[in-house]
Amino acid sequence: MIFIERINQPNQIYPLGVEMNKTGKKIVYGLGIESTAHTFGASVVDSTGRILTDAKSVYIPPQGSGIHPREASRHHSEKAANVIDEALRGAGIKARDLSFIAYSAGPGLGPCLRVGATVARAIASYFNLPLIPVNHAVGHIEIAALEAGFSDPLVLLVSGGHTLISAHSYGRWRIFGETLDITIGQLLDQFGRAAGFASPAGRKLEELAKAAERYISLPYTVKGNDVSFSGILTAAKNMLASGESLEDLAYSLQETGFAMLCEVTERALAFTEKSELLVAGGVAANRRLCEMLNAVALRHNAKFCAVSSRFAGDCGAQIAWAGLLAFSTGVFIPLEKSVIRQSWRLDSVDTPWRS
Ligand code: AMP
Ligand code: MG
Repeated sequence: MIFIERINQPNQIYPLGVEMNKTGKKIVYGLGIESTAHTFGASVVDSTGRILTDAKSVYIPPQGSGIHPREASRHHSEKAANVIDEALRGAGIKARDLSFIAYSAGPGLGPCLRVGATVARAIASYFNLPLIPVNHAVGHIEIAALEAGFSDPLVLLVSGGHTLISAHSYGRWRIFGETLDITIGQLLDQFGRAAGFASPAGRKLEELAKAAERYISLPYTVKGNDVSFSGILTAAKNMLASGESLEDLAYSLQETGFAMLCEVTERALAFTEKSELLVAGGVAANRRLCEMLNAVALRHNAKFCAVSSRFAGDCGAQIAWAGLLAFSTGVFIPLEKSVIRQSWRLDSVDTPWRS
């Protein structure tokens, strides 16, 4: 069982649960379902702030290939029942003990999102439970903030699907910089694929970078407070094809791409004057990136925290936790309106639990 102290839970939780804890408050259980891309995940949280389980099954594409949406969705359909069963059993509850179902409603790959949404609708409909659509980026950010104990951070969200800088203001996570084309995760994964690795390749490239002997100059593209990674990807792939060392290129990709991210993050930190800097998403597992961001935070007297590797990548826990926050402020969606959204900007999502 994973236990997290609910350090920064800003709101009260609705007393709609089925059990009483020692203080006499009712405990609410919720199920979160994640299926935006490669991962089908399910997690049970309770209203005392515990993440009771975080079960998952990850679709791994063949070597040298990216995620095939149809194949990934087939994987999710096959694994969904077992993963949800594992999450409920691990928490020691039955589906009828749940008080809500949260699902990742986007952004993500349509066929994959549809599996999670369909399963969530089916459970919600059968047990007559409130259904909560969670924005995947909100999920990444809220679980990282929970773990860090940060209440009002500047967040760098770096994953396969996102590269953006955000801080909360006037009821939403506002964006202070983002990628203009591909994400940092896609940069690493697509370069990895060109080198013959399976996606995701970020961890493999981090290992290879340690054996590098020299820095190779690559395009450094910052526009305003946004970044662009497509030019650096093309340049790195061309150099690889012309025989440059894979280790040197892996190192140079990291140094260049991460320096771009640090530049725009530092500008946003100086502008917003936040005292907490948080990095979330799968690429937060990279030690070099964290080292560079830590130096940025130090220069601005801000605390720095990276989400742990357990919650860095996609997982049901991030959806369950964000679902609980939404549930606490009555954010539900009627079954017939529970659509999925392949594109769904973070700064268009109301987050009343932080207002
Ligand atoms: P997510 O979309 O949040 O599941 O994150 C997946 C992304 O994180 C992929 O693009 C991975 O290549 C990347 N990633 C995972 N571990 C690392 C690492 N150690 N260094 C860099 N990128 C990583
Ligand atoms: Mg993600």
